[in-house]
Amino acid sequence: MMEWLEILVPVALIIGAIVAGAIAYRNRQRERGDRWTETIRCPECTQRQDAEVTFLDWMPFPAYAHQCVYCQYWITESDWERL
Ligand SMILES: [Zn+2]
Repeated sequence: MMEWLEILVPVALIIGAIVAGAIAYRNRQRERGDRWTETIRCPECTQRQDAEVTFLDWMPFPAYAHQCVYCQYWITESDWERL
């Protein structure tokens, strides 16, 4: 029984810390509003443009997805270059 607690308690503390961190991050982001505009550069055609970032209620992180208005390339978080 003791061995169980020695494993269970640290694991529970770590999970608790991760969840608390995620909630704190979510609350900080929410203070910025549910949507905002960022100026980005398209990785395909290098054109600058404004892209809207949206925060959906059920998502812990904002959605970085924008279709380039010049070349129709879908820009996602991995190639999101904020200017
Ligand atoms: Zn483009």
